Amino acid sequence: MKAAVVHEFHGNLEIKDVPKPEAGPGQVLVHIEACGVCHTDLHAVHGDWPVKPIMPLIPGHEGVGVVERLGEGVTHLRVGDRVGIPWLYSACGYCEYCLTGRENLCPNQQNAGYSVNGSYAEYCLADADYVVKIPDNLDFIEAAPLFCAGVTVYKALKVSEAKPGQWVAIYGIGGLGHLAVQYAKAMGMNVVAVDTFDEKLDLAKSLGADLAVNPKQEDSAEWIKQKIGGVHAAVCTAVSKPAFDQAYRSIRRGGSCVLVGLPPESMDVPIFDTVLGGINLVGSIVGSRRDLQEALQLAAEGKIKAIIETKHLDDINEVFRDLEEGTINGRVVLDMR
Ligand code: NAD
Ligand code: ZN
Ligand code: ZN
Repeated sequence: MKAAVVHEFHGNLEIKDVPKPEAGPGQVLVHIEACGVCHTDLHAVHGDWPVKPIMPLIPGHEGVGVVERLGEGVTHLRVGDRVGIPWLYSACGYCEYCLTGRENLCPNQQNAGYSVNGSYAEYCLADADYVVKIPDNLDFIEAAPLFCAGVTVYKALKVSEAKPGQWVAIYGIGGLGHLAVQYAKAMGMNVVAVDTFDEKLDLAKSLGADLAVNPKQEDSAEWIKQKIGGVHAAVCTAVSKPAFDQAYRSIRRGGSCVLVGLPPESMDVPIFDTVLGGINLVGSIVGSRRDLQEALQLAAEGKIKAIIETKHLDDINEVFRDLEEGTINGRVVLDMR
């Protein structure tokens, strides 16, 4: 089968022919129709984080397609089912996190396109218990970005505990952020969009953002405090330490700062302001299978629509370059058909 493989950190992806995997017990083989390109895939190829991916690696954790083969013992899926393979490739099912609906925190989890091969390929193996079905009225291309970007920001907004009618700031209007604006509006919140590219702020406004600010022109935190007295929650998806520092400062007392983006640096957290302001500082990592079902359902109801540019597997190195330079509006989805 055709796949994009990286052999060393910072290396280019090579499009090559690799053996088609076989579904073992409890697994399914999925014929991939589309796969979104997440900034996490770039972090993986660069080896940015303390925990390193396998090498050689086939990246990709927004893969969607059709179940082609069932491994031994798989009874709840059928050949032909339309499914996606999220970042949470599998979890143990018996730890305290799995038992309390927080499988995204399972210490024994596997991650697609990181600890196991992902969906930048014609076929991908999956754990039958962790694939999630795609609603009938969503096509593959539009469903793909919801399997990471969509579920991640939907969950982060839940974690923020912002209520309908309250203000949230979305820092970074990229693949994740442009969906965050839409989920926040669908959840009844008022939205301030923050990005260093004016085109992305225009996109955010066209998707319903109530206010937008470019930190290259204004101190975004000061601007937000002046306009609306600070936000009830900030969700930071930007791959930039200064964005995290500003997101933190944009929050009003009693509010939440939700950390989602994964730049390798630390952020500045003033202890005094955090204590006196009763600030809730919280990390949020993807979501559970149930969160993903909910995120997909909102899209199936027409409330969320990813802005997508389709490319082909052969374009992947260019797509990575564009992602690094920040020039992509919305999400790139690789059309594998
Ligand atoms: P992306 O490149 O599509 O978007 C990042 C956006 O941040 C871009 O629009 C960029 O212009 C903007 N930006 C850069 N500097 C900024 C600044 N100073 N202020 C405001 N905006 C700024 O990336 P993406 O695919 O949306 O992923 C974003 C990050 O989220 C990555 O680090 C990725 O690894 C991480 N991520 C985390 C989770 C999770 O579960 N926590 C899930 C998926 C991705
Ligand atoms: Zn991702
Ligand atoms: Zn577990």
